[in-house]
Amino acid sequence: MKRVLVLAGSSEARELIAAISSRFDVVASLAGATRAPLELGCETRVGGFGGVSGLVDYLRDARIDILVDATHPFAAQMTDHGAQAASLAGIAHVVLQREGWVPTAGDNWVFVDRFEEVAQIIPKGCTVFLGTGRQTLGDFANMVNRRLLCRVIDPPQGPFPYDSGRFVVGRPPFSIAEEVAFFQSESVEWLVVKNAGGTRSRSKLDAARQLGLPVVMQRRPALPDVPVVDRVSACVAWLEGQT
Ligand code: NAP
Repeated sequence: MKRVLVLAGSSEARELIAAISSRFDVVASLAGATRAPLELGCETRVGGFGGVSGLVDYLRDARIDILVDATHPFAAQMTDHGAQAASLAGIAHVVLQREGWVPTAGDNWVFVDRFEEVAQIIPKGCTVFLGTGRQTLGDFANMVNRRLLCRVIDPPQGPFPYDSGRFVVGRPPFSIAEEVAFFQSESVEWLVVKNAGGTRSRSKLDAARQLGLPVVMQRRPALPDVPVVDRVSACVAWLEGQT
């Protein structure tokens, strides 16, 4: 049985592991960012590898035959390290990454590459929903005189870093009705979102369209020049081609 390392941290990683566990010897890897991650149902290691050289050592020591990068589309450093390490270790490698969202009729999206640009777009005095994760909060230091609501999965361990705003705790998925009710109850006027893609966190965009709210959408980082599949079924087929 071929031994597969799945770099996890996305819902697709969990689906992929469930689909291949009977045919491959699967090890999953999590960064350790979420305090209580959902069970993956396979051997799981947690924490960084120590850069590219650490990952190359791990691939050799753990006798990994195939690397599947099923990290989140914005985990750019891990994806870059995975591509370099697989090449150095001489093993097969594929990136599983869902397609990005595209606006449809009624959506009002403004695209940015960096969150530091958001302050030039959203006027002072507005209430802003940040669906971008706790780690991005430092990028919004120039958003003075706006009320920021930052949704996080784990309860915060420290105070909100800015005078005007707070954390909102919740684990997706949320229904469109839940998102509409939340945006209305907090008088949200703008959303800031990463172009994560997929259905699981799409409901906030559908809610924004229903309410006529504008959205600042961060574009995805570029992918390295490696094989990429955009669905779990295509990844399973790619893996079967490696046996
Ligand atoms: P990142 O910036 O690309 O990676 C930073 C470092 O974290 C990597 O260099 C690596 O450390 C370690 N790392 C990341 N993913 C790992 C994994 N699956 N297994 C072991 N080590 C990992 O990543 P990130 O954006 O902080 O994301 C961290 C994790 O959260 C990923 O698994 C990702 O799928 C998940 N996630 C990210 C986002 C997001 O918006 N970025 C959203 C939802 C989930 P070393 O260099 O020491 O190996």
